[in-house]
Amino acid sequence: MAESKRDYYEVLGVPKNADDAAIKKAYRALAKKYHPDANPGDAEAEKKFKEASEAYSVLSDSEKRKQYDQFGHAAFDGGAGGGGFGGFGGFGGFDGADMGDIFGDIFGDIFGGGRSRSSARYNGPMRGANVRTSVRITFEEAIFGCEKEIEINYKEECAACHGTGAKAGTSPETCPRCKGKGKTVEVQQSVFGMGMVQNVQTCPECGGTGKVIREKCADCRGTGYIVKRKRLKVTIPAGIDDGQSIRISGSGEPGTNGGERGDLLVEAVVSKHPVFVRRETSIYSTVPISFAVAALGGPVRIKTVDGEVEYEVKAGTQTDTKVRLKGKGVPSLRNRGVRGDHYVTLVIQVPERMNEEQKEALRRFDDLMNGRTPEEKKETGHKKKGLFK
Ligand SMILES: [Zn+2]
Ligand SMILES: [Zn+2]
Repeated sequence: MAESKRDYYEVLGVPKNADDAAIKKAYRALAKKYHPDANPGDAEAEKKFKEASEAYSVLSDSEKRKQYDQFGHAAFDGGAGGGGFGGFGGFGGFDGADMGDIFGDIFGDIFGGGRSRSSARYNGPMRGANVRTSVRITFEEAIFGCEKEIEINYKEECAACHGTGAKAGTSPETCPRCKGKGKTVEVQQSVFGMGMVQNVQTCPECGGTGKVIREKCADCRGTGYIVKRKRLKVTIPAGIDDGQSIRISGSGEPGTNGGERGDLLVEAVVSKHPVFVRRETSIYSTVPISFAVAALGGPVRIKTVDGEVEYEVKAGTQTDTKVRLKGKGVPSLRNRGVRGDHYVTLVIQVPERMNEEQKEALRRFDDLMNGRTPEEKKETGHKKKGLFK
């Protein structure tokens, strides 16, 4: 976060309005050039590869791209609230599923099917998977931020077997089928007799771990983990929008072989508000005003997320007039001191029920607007009736 990050579009060398196909094409070229397999031991290439992969993972996902276009890197790495924001951080923090999609999609056809996934499995430390959950918050909580307590299923290493899954006194053995490699290779004569075909698969015996457990630990039934309910405090940053996520580092699934834990991603589900509608950092609402106030001008009380404010309606205001209340909108996630605006539509109300006195006053008003005196009206009124009957 400290070092300045390059713009994702710049990383891929595409314009801001590039379409999905152009983004994919640019990434494929970079990935091919800088892939670690093609540049063994080249740290600079690896850095470039990761940078391009990160840029691609954001720009290839329409939702993430929208967030990035709006907030820049700030949308994804901390800033606003505690615990980081945005659903994913640096390369290491990528969601397993997301990267899987990218690898399957891009490397599947660069390097031939299956290669990337099987080479991604190895027996060294592996980071745990990210876990997703959601929390419901009110419209106001999303605007001003809040603290929420959530309860999650939290996997912990089994104390009895220290996470190995093997019964006390025993330990997992090297898988006899794949000899610990985690994958099996079958060599077949090709159908057309043109040579040999290699078929690489995840080992079905050990599921790719390279190890098998002969006698399972009774406490965890061989999984190596105990699942507990855990309560967590989540700091939700001011300005968060429906569907955006907060990252809590290290609260995901435990890693394997000493790898670090994955992250917990908490998606904010924001309830609808009866009066306010939000679009990005703007708030919209409709306020009824009487005909008299619209015509004569005068104060109206307008509800905002900061409470009621008094607004002076100008004389001669028409219905559907839009009023901007500056700085009464949603705080920016990047800087909560910067707020959007609140747009109010003033709608003139026609009274549905009036008593005789009110009706008479309105008739008099109408006459005066048409330049008629009450005396003239009596005459014309009779005449008109006569005409129409
Ligand atoms: Zn156990
Ligand atoms: Zn195996």
